[in-house]
Amino acid sequence: MPRTIVTKFLKLRDRTTLGQQVAVVTAILCLALALTVAATAAFVARQQATARAEAEIIGIASNMAERLDARMFERFREVRNLAELEPLRAVWDGDEATIRSILEQLQASLPEYAWIGFALPDGTVKAATGSMLEGVSVAERPWFMDGINGLTVKDVHDAKLLAELLGSQANGEPFRFVDVAVPVKNAAGATIGVLGAHMSWTWASVVRDTVLQTTDRALDTQIWVLRSDGTALLGPEYGSAPFGQSTIEAIAATGRLSFSDMAGAVDHLNAAVTTKGYLDYPGLGWTVVARRPLDLALAQANQLALAIVMIGIAFALAGAVIASLLARGLTRPLSELADGIDSIGRDPGATMIARDHSSRDVSQLTVAIRSLLRRLGVAETAQEAAQREAAASRQQLVERTERLGEDINALQILADTDPLTGLLNRRAFHVFGVDAMNYFKRHKRDVGVLVIDIDFFKRINDTYGHSVGDDVIRAVGGVVQAEARTIDKVARFGGEEFVVLMRETEKEGPAVLAERIRQTIAGKLVDHPEHGTIHVTVSIGAAMAVASDRDIEDVIERADRALYEAKATGRNRVVSGEAEPSQNRSAA
Ligand code: GH3
Ligand code: MG
Ligand code: MG
Repeated sequence: MPRTIVTKFLKLRDRTTLGQQVAVVTAILCLALALTVAATAAFVARQQATARAEAEIIGIASNMAERLDARMFERFREVRNLAELEPLRAVWDGDEATIRSILEQLQASLPEYAWIGFALPDGTVKAATGSMLEGVSVAERPWFMDGINGLTVKDVHDAKLLAELLGSQANGEPFRFVDVAVPVKNAAGATIGVLGAHMSWTWASVVRDTVLQTTDRALDTQIWVLRSDGTALLGPEYGSAPFGQSTIEAIAATGRLSFSDMAGAVDHLNAAVTTKGYLDYPGLGWTVVARRPLDLALAQANQLALAIVMIGIAFALAGAVIASLLARGLTRPLSELADGIDSIGRDPGATMIARDHSSRDVSQLTVAIRSLLRRLGVAETAQEAAQREAAASRQQLVERTERLGEDINALQILADTDPLTGLLNRRAFHVFGVDAMNYFKRHKRDVGVLVIDIDFFKRINDTYGHSVGDDVIRAVGGVVQAEARTIDKVARFGGEEFVVLMRETEKEGPAVLAERIRQTIAGKLVDHPEHGTIHVTVSIGAAMAVASDRDIEDVIERADRALYEAKATGRNRVVSGEAEPSQNRSAA
């Protein structure tokens, strides 16, 4: 899917730096360029090396062809010279021994002369080297038949008449000859016989070996000689046809041809050159083929191409590395810029980025960002000031509200508190009393009330003065507060009278607490710094809320009546104000 490739590419682009991207693109360009150049160079080099290889192999074939022609021309000339030599004319009519000695001298000059003989016009061999075939008729032999009419060269053939005499060669192959035949004429110009020479064809393999010795790779090189009809004379099996007819025709048409031969197990590069004869030697139309395995012939070309490609790759890699280093260097100002911007607002000192002159673009970018930062700085300062002001006024408001709350709280406390003793006043007590009565009525939670009055207080005032009276009131209030439970509410109702509201109490609770308060006060001497010890007692009326009570005032009133009873019955005592006749307890 092309879309997924595009998204992958875009993701990759997000994750790579500009430097990496430039490096990759440059590296790819380097690789492409270097590989293209290397491939082109390798192609050209391979072409040239191939051409060189072809030229070399054609050279070998030409060399062989020229040597074959030259060698044949020499034999051709020798035999003709011998036949035409003026001083020898008389010899051909002479005795056999003389002719034989001359022929044997020529044979001794070169090993390839297998047989040289002189036949009379009727075909009878008059004299021959080694006396072979003397007296035998060669009238039917082609060399004789053509040789009697003129200078003749006969192509390679198996020995016929000499086959029995010579046997076979050392390698087991039969003797094969190339024949040269010349008519011998007397002074009058009449043909008196035919001089014929059989050259052993093995000389061709000697010439081939000589040519091979001049090449670099003799072992990899083959030289074949083919007859004009394409059959093998030297190289492949004698008489076989190694190439197709079309190849033979193409060779014959051009005279020299290089071609690849894909038929065999190993492909070969071939060069074919036809022999053309030399001077008046007409040649036999042989084709010399030089061959090398194609991979060997082109090995140098391939090595050169490979070397060029490898060098190309090395250059490409080096280019890629250099490109990536350069790219990193080029994009460094950008990453430094990013770091600089990133540190603004994080590092306490960083408020501005540094100028950069590495390139015009980056320089313009830093100038623009510096300007932006300055503009932002101005806007920010104004905004900060406004924010600070708003925050300050908010703070002021909060503080004022808090103070007001505190004031209200203080006023509330002040309103609820008796200034002399710090206990609750009547009004505050009333709130708790109403609440307690609601609970009593709704949830049957028992509520008790004590009303406490100091006995004969007027005397204290009269004796010690009003101020000492106040001190005594405070001391008694302190005792009541200390004896009461924390959930009880203690109030001063004015004068030297106190009221205690008891919640969640048992039936006996008020009487017990009242008795404890009475005893504590009675047993305690108020120590006064100026007047020594002052002894006071209290009378206490106690009452529990009952179902018939309409409100807390009814309970207080019942406790107050009980207090009156306590006063009336002697003071310093507790009286519980109940419906049934009460059992007043007294102490001391
Ligand atoms: P009783 O045993 O019958 O209570 O005798 P009493 O002398 O205590 O009589 P009563 O309770 O009627 O007297 C209260 C006196 O307390 C009247 C007043 O002069 C005095 N008094 C009232 N308020 C204050 C006060 O705030 N300070 C001082 N020092 N005396 C007060
Ligand atoms: Mg009193
Ligand atoms: Mg009183």
